[in-house]
This record gives sequence, structure tokens and C-alpha cells, in this order.
Amino acid sequence: MKFVLENVRVPAGGNTLRPARMAVASGRVVAWDEECPVDWAREDGQGLVLLPGVIDPHTHFDEPGYTWREDFAHGSRAAVAGGVTTIFDMPDTSVPPVTTRAALAEKVSAVLPHAMCDFGLWGGVSANALEDPGWPRHMQELWEAGVIGFKTYALSGMATFRHLSYKQFEEVVRQAAALGALVGVHAEDAGIVEGERARLCGRTEMAAYAASRPVRAEVEAIRQVGALAHASGTRLHIVHLSSASGAEEVARLRGLGADISAETCPQYLTFSEQDFGRLGSLIKCAPPIRSVAERDRLWQHVGGVISMFATDHAPCPIEEKQTGNAFSDYAGIAGVELLLPWALTYGWRAGRLTLEQVVELTSRSAARRFGLWPRKGSLLPGSDADFVLVNLEENFVVRGENLHSKGRFSPFEGETFYGRVHATYVRGMAVFKRGTFCRPCGRFVVRGET
Ligand SMILES: [Zn+2]
Repeated sequence: MKFVLENVRVPAGGNTLRPARMAVASGRVVAWDEECPVDWAREDGQGLVLLPGVIDPHTHFDEPGYTWREDFAHGSRAAVAGGVTTIFDMPDTSVPPVTTRAALAEKVSAVLPHAMCDFGLWGGVSANALEDPGWPRHMQELWEAGVIGFKTYALSGMATFRHLSYKQFEEVVRQAAALGALVGVHAEDAGIVEGERARLCGRTEMAAYAASRPVRAEVEAIRQVGALAHASGTRLHIVHLSSASGAEEVARLRGLGADISAETCPQYLTFSEQDFGRLGSLIKCAPPIRSVAERDRLWQHVGGVISMFATDHAPCPIEEKQTGNAFSDYAGIAGVELLLPWALTYGWRAGRLTLEQVVELTSRSAARRFGLWPRKGSLLPGSDADFVLVNLEENFVVRGENLHSKGRFSPFEGETFYGRVHATYVRGMAVFKRGTFCRPCGRFVVRGET
């Protein structure tokens, strides 16, 4: 299958666009502009803007195991409807958790037939996994099988994936260093949060939930895991960084020479404590939404220590958000379908980011950090032809009922977003085009594969 996509515009530095043509064969980009073969089939891009397919490095598609909340069929349809061509799914919201090669194989075979987009997988290391004396070998086998990194928690609410003490974390990063592997961490200090929870006992409102997980818990966990990773020479990635203070701690550690990257999510850059009354548990997530001051200052670190956007996509049935107590309501937001339009609206259109920065933050940076570049996150000749055709000027109103995830509600309900996705291509195949989907053709992306 080969074709030349013509009549498109591509980012050409800053906010500029230039007309372009791109030739695709056997799922890869093969040439641009004057280099394109003249006698191949043509596709008309209708003047739309062509961007590299979005990579969401942090999703919970919950399969196998928690499929009443989300599954790959729905999650990956939502992804491609939003221009996302590759996701990295998390190991903890799977049964069994992806802490062994056997569990990885089980997960791949369960989700592969349903995947609309390509997917990388995080391996994981939990306190549960460390009870098996074979855990260093499990890490090695997972790394050799191509996971993009190892997710750990400094604070976890899951009995099947308990958090690591800092002592255990130190053992894990030593093994990761021996493998050359990257470790991702949910950075909230368990001791601080336990103390705050005890102090707030009996309270049920969102503000109390947020107060139980203060910014200083995030800063302290980053300080601890950052020092341990740096001492062992391990590459570290802070998932869903929620506060500017946390970003400043990452910057401090980087100043000392630590190899630390960080992602943040649309929810932390959009909402604040002032939205708790209006949105309640619709914006319950972990770490929690922060103050106006933290949110506004967090933007200053986007493109700096925060090199990528992620969604932490984690839907649930609406009933799980309505238990009557913010502490027991489900923590998670469905976001994968809105990531690109959100970045274009709040970033590019609002004047906070250039188009080039949006591409970096939604695609290129994650591919580089997690060992997939230039196969993913690039449209250089030889790269996978993963791309999205978007109309930057066309807007739409967010309606939960229009989302393709199992979680058909959104804290962005009623907001106008710019950047409508017209078509999404995965390895040259139009998996989403003008509202219709092709059959699932997603692949498991192995780290380092060229
Ligand atoms: Zn998560």
C-alpha cells in the first residue's frame, strides 16, 4: 500500500505552517515534497494541518481485569478519534498486574485484537512483586521483552499493586540501573498523606480529599526518589506531576545532574481548587487538583522540566464518582480523546505554546524519552506513518455523550475546543476518518525496535 498525501500543511518552526506532500509506503514515511514519486495514488489532504500522531505516555485502559471501567476497544477508539496513535498503558490496572513476563504476554494477547492504535506497555514493580525473590529476574525479562519502563508508586491505594518504601525503591532503581531501564514513579509521600488523612478523618468533601494529599507530599516524594535514582544512575520519570513546587524540585535535582523527566496532564493545567464546588469528584484524581497559584506557575515549567503531556486516562462508571464521599469516589479522568484538542486550545490558541511546542509535548518528547524515536514521534523518512489531519480553526463543544471511551462524561463538558481531528493514520492506515473507524490493527510497540 503506497500513496502520496498532498495538499496538507505542516509545522515549520514556531507557529508557521508550510504546504507539503508526504509519500507513504508499507506503513512508513518514505519521502517529502519534491522527493515524492509522481506516479503513486494520491490522497487529498484538503488543506488540513498534518501533525505527528500523538503519543499518550500514561493511560489506564484497564484490560484485562477492570473492564467495567475501560477496555482497549473503547480506550483505543477514543485515542484515535482524538489523534492519538500510540499509548503507553499502565501495569497496575491490569489483572494480573504486569510485573512478570507471563503477565505481559497475557496482557498483549488479551488487548491486541481490540487495539485501534499502537501501544507500548509499562512494566511494574510493586511491594507485592518484591515478595517474590525472583523480582530482579522478572524486571530483566520484562525489559528484554520491550516494556518502555517500570512504573512504581511512592503512594498507592491498590491492594494488588502496593507502593514501595523508599528502601524498596532504592533496591528497584539499583536493578533498573543495571538493566539501563527507566523507572516511572507516582510521587506522593505516603507518610505525609497518612498523617493528613488521620487529621481530616470524618470529612467527606473534595477540599478535604485534596488537603489530605498536599503539595509538600509531592515535593518530598520527588526529593526522596530523585536522590535515590540519581545516586544509582537510574533514569527517572515523574508521572502526572501536579504542582509547580514539584516541578521546581525536579529542576533542582536536574541541576545536580540527575536524569529526571516529567509529564503533566491537562487537568493540572486547567482546573484548580476553585472548581471543586462546581465539578466535585469529576475532577478527583491522584495527585489532586491544586491551588490557582500552583496551577498558573505550573505552566511556566511546560517545555522546561515538563517535557511531555500525558492524560492519566482513567474512566469509570459515573456511579463510582457518586458514592457520597470524596475519599471513596473513584480517582480518575477520561482524557485520551481530548488531549490534542486541549493542547491546541489551551496551549497554541491561548498563546502559551507554539505549534512546534505542541508537537514536542504531545509526540516527539515521549518517543525520545522512552526509546521509540525516530520510529515514533517523527515523520522523517523511515518513521512509522503515524499522523493526524486536523483543522486548527474548526471548533467543537465537548459533550461526554460524544466521547468514545467507556467513561462518557468529562470535566470539560460544554467547553469549546479548537482543533478538530478529521483523520488519524496508524502506520499509513486511516484508522479514523470523518467519524468512522476501521477494524483494529494496533500493534504492541517494543522499545528500541526500528
Ligand atoms: Zn495513572
